[in-house]
Amino acid sequence: MKRIILIKYGELTTKKDNRGFFIKTLRKNILNKLTDFNIEIKDDYYRMFIYCDEDDINKIVSILKSIFGIHEIVICISSTDTSVDNIKNISLDIMKNKTFKTFKVETNRSDKSYPIKSMEMNNIIGGHILKNINCKVDVHNPDYLLNIEIRCEGVYIYENRIKGLGGYPVSTLGRGLLMLSGGIDSPVAGYLTIKRGVELYYLYFESRPHTSIEARNKVITLARKLEKYNSNGKLLVVNFTKIQEAIYKNLDPDYLITIMRRMMYRIAEKVAKKNKCLAIVNGESVGQVASQTLSSILSVNDVTNFPILRPLCSFDKLDIIDISKKIDTYETSILPYEDCCTVFVPKHPVINPNLKHIYHEESLYDFSELLDEAVNNIEVVSLKEVKSDLL
Ligand code: ATP
Ligand code: MG
Repeated sequence: MKRIILIKYGELTTKKDNRGFFIKTLRKNILNKLTDFNIEIKDDYYRMFIYCDEDDINKIVSILKSIFGIHEIVICISSTDTSVDNIKNISLDIMKNKTFKTFKVETNRSDKSYPIKSMEMNNIIGGHILKNINCKVDVHNPDYLLNIEIRCEGVYIYENRIKGLGGYPVSTLGRGLLMLSGGIDSPVAGYLTIKRGVELYYLYFESRPHTSIEARNKVITLARKLEKYNSNGKLLVVNFTKIQEAIYKNLDPDYLITIMRRMMYRIAEKVAKKNKCLAIVNGESVGQVASQTLSSILSVNDVTNFPILRPLCSFDKLDIIDISKKIDTYETSILPYEDCCTVFVPKHPVINPNLKHIYHEESLYDFSELLDEAVNNIEVVSLKEVKSDLL
């Protein structure tokens, strides 16, 4: 008799032709996150079994809870002894420790040569429980559901079921480039994108000395927190100072934010292409600030045809905050260090920018060299060394 972990796949059950690829990637992602443990994984079309040391189960489950592509994590007792007496004993042992008034037994017999049919097994085990625990059967809405699976290699009896994060295994949908600021929104946008199977690189624009080393460290911390869900992310830091200063000194102050964001998108597109990213991701939410009115988004997006994902576009701030607390980025995000977007703030930022005016302003100064310089001098900050902090 042994406790093992059974994993039920997430939404990938709908991906008929790609299913093998999704399962293989999930397996690889799980192995990557569990390198510190002595485990063996067996998978089939419907589920995955993780065999590990009994003492590691809780630690492993807490890591599995942050891996996308898992619908449910089930701790079960497995035994090669499929005799009725053994199944009765295990079931009673499990249920003795649970609190419930009503229950139901559900048997699944994939070994069709097993002599007792599923319904009959439900009755036998149900009868045994009723004899030993003060409770009732409710087949429609039980407080406790006992699952028994009889397979060729043995029996599996579910002890505990834990909800997984769902989503797709990271990297099955390719790579994206997250514009990561130190704020509340972009880490949440990143998390939701990783959930859809997109592996992320992070792009941070800094404006030293106008922004501080603390502001950069804050972004590093946020990227590391996202690495709990992502795999092999890199933080790419753009030195944005000269571009911001050039905009500030030479162009219409009311258009400072709009033009600065156009420069960010221009750089992001080049960096994305260089790093084989298939989309840019950011934390914009319609209406949240002046630079996120529809007409601001239109004016900024005007510089690129590259796909821009805005997972938070319709989210209320309070809902974004809830997620940021859940993924543990909130406390870091609210640390009061300035972002490059907040160091040069115009008195009257335009809410409805005019494209013709933007083109005119941008023609007053040639940014091409500065843009190339920014792209060619990106600093890469590794996020690898933190793996042990994440456990
Ligand atoms: P956040 O809370 O994520 O900072 P915000 O509400 O403050 O967002 P903006 O400052 O307008 O909004 O930024 C919108 C998006 O642009 C951010 O969510 C982020 O994706 C990107 N962004 C802003 N500043 C930076 C930066 N310094 N580096 C990288 N991306 C940035
Ligand atoms: Mg911000």
